[in-house]
Amino acid sequence: MRADVIVVGAGAAGLACAGRLHREGLSVVVHEARDRVGGRIHTFHPADGGPPLELGAQVVHGARNPVHSLVGADRMVTVPRRITARLVEDGGNQDMGVLSSHGRRPPWLLEAGLHRDPHPGGQSVGAWLRARGSGHLEVRAAREWFRQNWAAEPDELSARGVSGAHRGDTGAGEGEFAVRGGFDRLPLLLAQGLRISPGDPVHEIRCLPGRVEAATVRGTTSALAAVITVPPPVVAQGRLRLVGPGSAALDAKTAAAGRIPLGDGYCAVVTLTRAAPGTAITFDADGRGGFVRCSAGRPEVLFVAKAGAAGALRAAVRSTPALSSLLETVMPWTAAARVAGLTTADWGRDPWTSGAFTAPRTGCEDAVRQWAAPVDDTLFFAGEATVTGSRLPWVQGALASGERAAEELLKVLANR
Ligand SMILES: Cc1cc2nc3c(=O)[nH]c(=O)nc-3n(C[C@H](O)[C@H](O)[C@H](O)COP(=O)(O)OP(=O)(O)OC[C@H]3O[C@@H](n4cnc5c(N)ncnc54)[C@H](O)[C@@H]3O)c2cc1C
Repeated sequence: MRADVIVVGAGAAGLACAGRLHREGLSVVVHEARDRVGGRIHTFHPADGGPPLELGAQVVHGARNPVHSLVGADRMVTVPRRITARLVEDGGNQDMGVLSSHGRRPPWLLEAGLHRDPHPGGQSVGAWLRARGSGHLEVRAAREWFRQNWAAEPDELSARGVSGAHRGDTGAGEGEFAVRGGFDRLPLLLAQGLRISPGDPVHEIRCLPGRVEAATVRGTTSALAAVITVPPPVVAQGRLRLVGPGSAALDAKTAAAGRIPLGDGYCAVVTLTRAAPGTAITFDADGRGGFVRCSAGRPEVLFVAKAGAAGALRAAVRSTPALSSLLETVMPWTAAARVAGLTTADWGRDPWTSGAFTAPRTGCEDAVRQWAAPVDDTLFFAGEATVTGSRLPWVQGALASGERAAEELLKVLANR
């Protein structure tokens, strides 16, 4: 196959990049390992036509997030903040409001304090929290809150990186929104009109003078340039090799990829034999279930677990008694129900992702810069990992990185 540009990966970054290049009149081929587009945007559609649930990206962050205009403002639904929020702590299940009534600052207030801190210093989030927390329980809940929002251990998370990412993303605005019909509408819309080859993983990119070749199970694609949008572990673990005469630069790139791990993530939709009596969201500060949601009148419970909770949930779903016990703790109404179905997304063990997303870990700044930098005017890089520490590692960051890589490439091609 021949094209002007090869894009590796049909997630938000790859599709945004390919779309921009296609609109400039270039011929673009997108190779995608999975049999679907969207990558970490992955929606579960209940068989009875009920409201969709998200197994990957959950919500659109911010009222000025570009996703609004990409899917159409009429499709965006505000996620209400005043749903019943519950806290699991030391095995007990209580209303979140209990925190403030006991004089404890809720974890999101501590988190917001860090986002607003313009000079958090070179310390870890764990150290930043210890310096501010007045009590053991307050810090413990806040640490788990950061684990769930950043998929990383607070002691490894850079306070400057977290605060910088938030300040870099203020343009997206406030509030949380869902896409009516499912987040997967976004990649489906972005993919329209593009030449995409699904179920076609690229296992080698060869950088040759002035051109590149992508080797896949189906054959070889040649192009003037390639944009790599895969998560860094795919390269670090050798599932996609970068080879060519300038191998020192490519070896350095692979080494940089090895220093940018993604935090563990595991999501599950558990379908029960009974419908939920009300809409609720539970935050499991004990670190076994992450964020757990149910909707009034629906039989599904959604777990979104990251960092240590991802491992705990992965283990729990292997045994019905363990899963039922976890369900009863986080959602007591489920005691009267049985598990009728289970759909999971194991991001941590997924060969094409190896984690949820990239947190700004202390000391990772150089590796992120090296990973994002182009090589020899032929190889360009995008994806949420390339914005780590300067923007939030979420869909809007992935989209922006795809646009940025397209701009870099267009500039180079214009001068060739
Ligand atoms: C559990 C979870 C919750 C999240 N919550 C939110 C949220 O609420 N809001 C938000 O905005 N973001 C959220 N995110 C983050 C968001 O999903 C990601 O930042 C974004 O989707 C990343 O897009 P990407 O294009 O960079 O990467 P990906 O979506 O991972 O796309 C990369 C693509 O490359 C493909 N690929 C990999 N290797 C190869 C290969 N060798 N050859 C060909 N193709 C390959 C992959 O299959 C994939 O399709 C969440 C993520 C997870 C996992």
